[in-house]
Amino acid sequence: FLKLQNLDKSFGENRVVKDFNLDVEKGEFISLLGPSGCGKTTVLRMVAGFETPSSGQILVADKEITRLRTNQRKVGMVFQSYALFPNLTVAQNVGFGLKVAGIPRGERAGRVQEMLDLIGLPDLGARFPWQLSGGQQQRVALARALAPKPQMLLLDEPLSALDAKVRVSLRNQIREIQQQLGITTIFVTHDQEEAMAVSDRIVVMHQGAADQIASPQDIYNTPATEFVANFVGTLN
Ligand code: ATP
Repeated sequence: FLKLQNLDKSFGENRVVKDFNLDVEKGEFISLLGPSGCGKTTVLRMVAGFETPSSGQILVADKEITRLRTNQRKVGMVFQSYALFPNLTVAQNVGFGLKVAGIPRGERAGRVQEMLDLIGLPDLGARFPWQLSGGQQQRVALARALAPKPQMLLLDEPLSALDAKVRVSLRNQIREIQQQLGITTIFVTHDQEEAMAVSDRIVVMHQGAADQIASPQDIYNTPATEFVANFVGTLN
């Protein structure tokens, strides 16, 4: 469904993504896992259209989108910081992208409520972001990303700012919603336990390249490199 072919990205002399290849199936949940600076955010930003690859191609459903602008790609994104609009209500935040996405006015309120129901906050539409907990704000950010019914969900460390208990419950909720919708998802994290818990497959990244692409079980049982073994903790 999503194909990344020979992706390369340099910032000046710094080659941060190196000959990166990945085929993501429709409905799959893929994690990009690796330490800080390994290039995982840059890969995600190229899929989102925020960065243009130095070389290589990106295809979605066999159509090349390498140079399309973000608003021409049907992607929903959630970032580490909640990035909700502070002066808009929860409902207005969730409905924010619907006009641009071409959803008719008469359908927008229904869509917003559908999304609030989906994330388990059916009654909080009239609140403002500051009246919500961090976990609730991040669920609203997820609802906002999903409201226009994107083809893909791109998550960049969406749990990092939350405390441990909320992190675990929210990652499970994200996975449940993802499976319920069958939406193709790429999840960037530096936390191997998180990646193991939610992913269909994990890409372990190391210095801009994919060291291993495999199921959590295979990564754990048969790490392809010493780096992978160290990073997932099997050598400790
Ligand atoms: P982190 O979790 O710390 O964000 P990451 O694995 O997501 O790590 P990237 O954010 O993709 O890594 O960054 C990879 C490298 O590219 C880093 O060395 C970073 O400094 C560099 N980099 C990223 N964006 C830019 C940019 N716009 N200009 C110059 N260098 C950049």
